[in-house]
Amino acid sequence: MSVNLQTPIDYLKGVGPNRATLLKSELGVYTYQDLINLFPNRYIDRTRYYKINQLQQTNADVQIVGKITGFKEVAQKRGKRLVANFQDDTGVMELVWFRGQKWIRDNLKTNKPYVAFGKVNWFSGKFNMAHPELELQEEHEKNIRSAMQPIYPSTEKLSNKGITNKVVSKIMQQLFIETKGRFVETLSQPILNELKLINKSEALFNIHFPKSSELLHKAQFRLKFEELFYIQLQLIIKNLMHKKKIKGLPFEKVGNYFNTFFSEHLPFNLTNAQKRVLKEIRADLGSQAQMNRLLQGDVGSGKTIVALMSMLMALDNDYQACLIAPTEILSVQHYNGLQEYCKKLNINIEILTGSTKTSKRRKIHESLENGELQILIGTHALLEDKVKFKNLGLAIVDEQHRFGVAQRSKLWKKGPTSPPQSSHEEEAKTEVGYIPPHILVMTATPIPRTLAMSVYGDLDISVIDELPPGRKPIKTVHRYDKNRLNVFRFIRDEIKKGRQVYIVYPLIQESEKMDYKDLMDGYESISRDFPMPEYQISIVHGQMKPDDKEYEMQRFIKGETQIMVATTVIEVGVNVPNASVMIIESAERFGLSQLHQLRGRVGRGAEQSYCILMTGHKLSNDSKTRLETMVRTNDGFEIAEADLKLRGPGDLMGTQQSGVLNLRIADIVKDNAILNSARYYAKQTLQNDNNLSAPENQVILNTYKQLAKFKNIWNYIS
Ligand code: ADP
Ligand code: MG
Repeated sequence: MSVNLQTPIDYLKGVGPNRATLLKSELGVYTYQDLINLFPNRYIDRTRYYKINQLQQTNADVQIVGKITGFKEVAQKRGKRLVANFQDDTGVMELVWFRGQKWIRDNLKTNKPYVAFGKVNWFSGKFNMAHPELELQEEHEKNIRSAMQPIYPSTEKLSNKGITNKVVSKIMQQLFIETKGRFVETLSQPILNELKLINKSEALFNIHFPKSSELLHKAQFRLKFEELFYIQLQLIIKNLMHKKKIKGLPFEKVGNYFNTFFSEHLPFNLTNAQKRVLKEIRADLGSQAQMNRLLQGDVGSGKTIVALMSMLMALDNDYQACLIAPTEILSVQHYNGLQEYCKKLNINIEILTGSTKTSKRRKIHESLENGELQILIGTHALLEDKVKFKNLGLAIVDEQHRFGVAQRSKLWKKGPTSPPQSSHEEEAKTEVGYIPPHILVMTATPIPRTLAMSVYGDLDISVIDELPPGRKPIKTVHRYDKNRLNVFRFIRDEIKKGRQVYIVYPLIQESEKMDYKDLMDGYESISRDFPMPEYQISIVHGQMKPDDKEYEMQRFIKGETQIMVATTVIEVGVNVPNASVMIIESAERFGLSQLHQLRGRVGRGAEQSYCILMTGHKLSNDSKTRLETMVRTNDGFEIAEADLKLRGPGDLMGTQQSGVLNLRIADIVKDNAILNSARYYAKQTLQNDNNLSAPENQVILNTYKQLAKFKNIWNYIS
């Protein structure tokens, strides 16, 4: 009979109520199962013994064989410390205890060989080791000893209460004794075979007591794969269930609006990537399920036209569409751009933002509800409850990283609630009470694929991985403030050629006043270097009235001004193809994705564009890495990967809430390859056997159910 792994940890020999309480509160270990899954953070080579004269001031964990030759007590500020002389044939060092001194004195034997293990410190001319793990050499040799000694996660409280790494190891050994080290397999035989994975029991043994570094490696691989496999499986199942359960509005045809636009008004040829994405979207809209698609495309890759053409599909099927953008400027720009594209199509488009006048707003509400208004563009204002559509069929969110999940879900509820037009709608509505519109979220802050797969695993993903033809890669350089005169000379030359220039200052919320001052100082000095009437300068910042902002933007768009001095309000989306120089002031204060977004404001026309990153002289290592990355590459995905490495996954947008990265053993950044393979196999498995009913998949189904039951897997998903 096998041991039930759900047995509370209290029952394990050597644990007892006190230790159990601590294990629960400090490490979240409640059951045998939890304990097995408490994986070591790292391993130490215990085959190596140091001599005292080999020690260095590196603070690394070492083990030394020696004898205690005597104790002394040393008074210190508070209480006293116990110090032992520890000696081998090459020298003497000290062992130090600040707590538990009586026990130590009573139990440790002098002049017997001990193995001392711990971190060495260099203190007033001597090496010492505080609170070493000590074991008589003869005991040490008797114990199961693996070459690589695991170091388990710990907390200060645990070590204060004597639950040292050694104790955890002991408890772990006990668990392997009680369970005979036999654990239920959790992956299917075909997967084990194909990937040559070691089995579960062997993996668990070697993760806790590695027999060799090779086996440790195999154990880690197998357990990482398993962890990622079940997360992916869960996400994919969620996605499939979603498609089954949430019926969408059927867009049955591609009609007049789309076809006319495509054949008569499209101002350029679509890139292959744009065509492919449009096909993917078309397939979603035509299916019976609600679309939930993420469109990733680097800045300038041409997402707007894809958005427009998707909206035309909605209009062709007598539905309304909306496009929501994070800033007023961007909304206005979209509005103007789409008006321009559609001017011959006779489409009713409106814009709604926080600054829309009440009378105008009332009109918009009215024409939205009676269905006259076909496309509504706007900011968050569009999400307000008062804004009701007659029959919203498609909602597009631009620059999705600026929006939260909650806002996305608000859009869902804007779907049709009027009497259904077709039997499909009737069916769809009964499931959720309203019919959610199709949703397309677009982002130019590429999320590394690995992360996207985990965080947005329940969305379908489309990628525009190709820039429109004729774009020259932007040349990026880093310049120090002292080179400013050269930079200004360069700006003059570019303006002479008819180009326009952005100069951007950082805006960081906490010090808005200071930022504002920086901006104004900058503006003044630029006005001095680029005097009127030869030069005209626009200025745009967050504290201006929307009308003034718009006025200044328009002057720049129309080419009346050559220089745009701005804060990061222009970060997203703004499109002025004639602008070819982007100067970013205090570039060290910007994050990578922001720098990339800002740079994306240039390089939109046929001319060679430049991005100049201005910084002071003192730079942190992270700043240097960011600047170097920007200079090295224009590829948004590469930049996103670099960002992920710099900041760690926890910081990236949206992922904080999702807790998706709360992994036990795998690392979303480093284990990219394993993640890809896990996703591949999860997909394959479900494709071949969508309800996991095949005999060989029984083990997957059981594990999946088990994980769901004990909530483990749900921790990963918001
Ligand atoms: P983003 O993906 O950053 O939103 P936009 O949609 O603003 O990019 O497009 C950037 C610029 O590229 C616009 O000026 C747009 O007109 C142009 N553009 C988009 N697609 C193409 C294409 N297939 N051929 C040429 N120019 C294009
Ligand atoms: Mg855009």
